[in-house]
Amino acid sequence: MSRPSSDYDPVEVSPLHADEVEAMRDAALEAIDAAASLDDLKQVRIEHAGDRSPLALANREIGALPPQARKNAGMRVGQARKAVGARLAERAAALQEQQDARILLEESVDVTLPVDREPRGARHPLTTIQERVCDVFVAMGWEVAEGPEVEAEWLNFDALNLGPDHPARTMQDTFWLTPAKAALVLRTHTSPVQARTMLERTPPIYVICPGRTFRTDALDATHTPVFHQVEGLAIDEGLSMAHLKGTLDHFATEMFGYGITTRFRPSYFPFTEPSAEVDLICFVCRDVPGEVETCRTCRGEGWIEWGGCGVVNPRVLIACGVDPERYTGFAFGMGLDRTLMVRYDLEDMRDMVEGDVRFTVPFGLEL
Ligand SMILES: [Zn+2]
Repeated sequence: MSRPSSDYDPVEVSPLHADEVEAMRDAALEAIDAAASLDDLKQVRIEHAGDRSPLALANREIGALPPQARKNAGMRVGQARKAVGARLAERAAALQEQQDARILLEESVDVTLPVDREPRGARHPLTTIQERVCDVFVAMGWEVAEGPEVEAEWLNFDALNLGPDHPARTMQDTFWLTPAKAALVLRTHTSPVQARTMLERTPPIYVICPGRTFRTDALDATHTPVFHQVEGLAIDEGLSMAHLKGTLDHFATEMFGYGITTRFRPSYFPFTEPSAEVDLICFVCRDVPGEVETCRTCRGEGWIEWGGCGVVNPRVLIACGVDPERYTGFAFGMGLDRTLMVRYDLEDMRDMVEGDVRFTVPFGLEL
């Protein structure tokens, strides 16, 4: 290819010898083939095709050649650079393809794997508080009793000494089922479960009856037409108001903490005689002197209304087939919704029934 030239200076232009150019080209091609990654190839590109690469420097030498030698030298260097450039492009494409394939493999998502990021949800706090109440009494040897939510009028009212003229029997408070002659209601309290228990069993009876109850109230911050009660009934020989007080004090301590006991205020219920309202010592301001006046939980009273209780009226015992000469008993009842509101300082009853998980989740998954 190259012709010897009389003006050719072998020292000055030795990098432009055919052998030298071939050696540069082969070194570049070898380095390109050896590059194992795109990063490696980037380095190889700088070393063998960059501005300071041997071939680039050789290219610059061409101008120093005698005119007759330039053409051949230029062709040699040009072909070598072209070959290097082509091999670089080829290798880059191959490495890019390898990298893409590897990323696809490494970062692939197996959509058939089990999902572990689903929100866990939570049990409703009314359910868990109901179970806690039952646990307290089961630990004392009581049993849990349940009854139907659609109840006979007689069990819901008459058996409990709620006479036909009692205000609670009017349409205002009670959901009546049609036809009216069926005499069925959605139970307005859990007390019919007590009547059923007394009718079905012989004393001694110690039962706790949690459940859903219904009244024709409009839903607002402090009322709901569907609410929850828990009632307790004990029938045995020699039971008195003192046993009732001890039982409720224990119940209060278990639910609200050490030192939280109850007080009774005289009251009236048709199914108990004597009857009392049950208040709790306010567990928020009790230990903070001077806080009672400003306490939101008890509204400055120092006591929180909790429920009702009393000694079972002998008329109820007779209606339910229990001998009032031999047995006495006590009964009590609380709203579970109210207990929950007081316990956790909740302000709006609607939060409990709207089913928004943001309400239930903070209570945790209490089992
Ligand atoms: Zn208070």
